[in-house]
Amino acid sequence: MLKVVEIFYSIQGEGSQVGVPSIFIRLYGCNLTCPFCDEILHKGEYEELTFEAVLERIKGYPSMQVIITGGEPTIYNLNGFIEFLQAYMYSVSVETNGYNFSNISNANWVTYSPKDWNKIEKFGYDEIKFVVSKDSPVEKILEFKSYKPIFIQPQNEVDRPNKENVNFCIEFVKAHPQFILSAQLHKFLGVE
Ligand code: SF4
Repeated sequence: MLKVVEIFYSIQGEGSQVGVPSIFIRLYGCNLTCPFCDEILHKGEYEELTFEAVLERIKGYPSMQVIITGGEPTIYNLNGFIEFLQAYMYSVSVETNGYNFSNISNANWVTYSPKDWNKIEKFGYDEIKFVVSKDSPVEKILEFKSYKPIFIQPQNEVDRPNKENVNFCIEFVKAHPQFILSAQLHKFLGVE
């Protein structure tokens, strides 16, 4: 059974797969309580759904790209669910704060967004994303190196861009071109 807050169809607005029409499955709960959390729905109500019930909900959408998000999906062991979806030819991406990579070891794509910049994992993901505001301690990530794409994503409002933080991030990546801007396209387009 999965604790599902919502399932919706939209475009991926972040990271390497920006623009890809995707089915989002938001799971309940998180191991952290970040003050800037813009995924607040993970604290709300949820339904307990079987794998088959989730499949029933998603198979009406034309995309075969699934993104499991939260909250923090890796508080659950999702390997069985990911395999289940892959058996139906879905490609499964997961967005995680890095709580437990072994719970998503067979995902097709993992986006890691570390919240504690004093302890950044080196492996277990396909891209890394730092959520940055103009007040963030960016000196902690300046020396971070990876052969995977490293994104800087402005800390936006829940439903719209934060212009100050967007401008800060634009100037930051221009000055430090090992980073790539991930603007959260969906918030500029005004879609979910
Ligand atoms: S890790 Fe993500 S979902 Fe969890 S509280 Fe922080 S911002 Fe929200």
